[in-house]
Amino acid sequence: MVYGLQYFEKQREMIVDYLVMEGYLTDQYVIEALKRVPREEFVPENLRKYAYLDQPLPIGYGQTISAIHMVAIMTNELKPRPGDKVLEIGTGSGYQAAVLVEIVAKMNPERRGYVVTIERIPELAEFARRNLEKTGYIDYVKIIVGDGTLGYQPDAPYDKIIVTAGAPDVPEPLIQQLKTGGRMVIPVGNRFIQKLLIIDKTENGLSKKWGIECMFVPLIGKYGWRDGE
Ligand code: SAM
Repeated sequence: MVYGLQYFEKQREMIVDYLVMEGYLTDQYVIEALKRVPREEFVPENLRKYAYLDQPLPIGYGQTISAIHMVAIMTNELKPRPGDKVLEIGTGSGYQAAVLVEIVAKMNPERRGYVVTIERIPELAEFARRNLEKTGYIDYVKIIVGDGTLGYQPDAPYDKIIVTAGAPDVPEPLIQQLKTGGRMVIPVGNRFIQKLLIIDKTENGLSKKWGIECMFVPLIGKYGWRDGE
């Protein structure tokens, strides 16, 4: 069976409305963005029909595209705004980056917001590049292959930083590369279960707030878990 554009649009509308109704989504920018990004273009071809099931889906190399409610909650907490420069660690499929681009760049292109996203697995970075190209987001995204726990100094400081893999602790370079007045959202815990940590960098230091429990694949790198640990 071939699933058409209207089928996916309807599914997208329904899941976003459900997330709003359940109270996961409150930020109007994030609601709009999630309604616009075609998630079916960011999953492997054979999983397209499951794109709007609210669960993580495999994207190869032992990695996943996060469940929609998790993208919704994290983006809602991050509060991206038009014109923001956002750093994402863990590009995966490119879906989260596309949601961010909708807000920081597409909603007001004159403000020149963009997303820098880092992925450690080159094949996934390539998968994300193709997905972002075919959906028209690529012009607003810099994809870097490497260890995201080091951040990306050339474009620092960032208004917002989002980490989409589970960390043992907050990588120090990411704190340094966050603007004063900026916000970071990062899952912190053990290799299997974490809690979202929301960090605001203020002139008086860091203010931290814990969010919901979550289960992310591990953040592997110098300031994350060791490979094979
Ligand atoms: N944000 C992605 C999306 O929208 O599809 C999902 C991210 S997936 C849950 C986590 C990703 O983080 C994986 O692709 C994994 O390879 C990547 N990753 C893990 N450690 C990393 C690191 N140190 N630097 C960059 N990427 C990393």
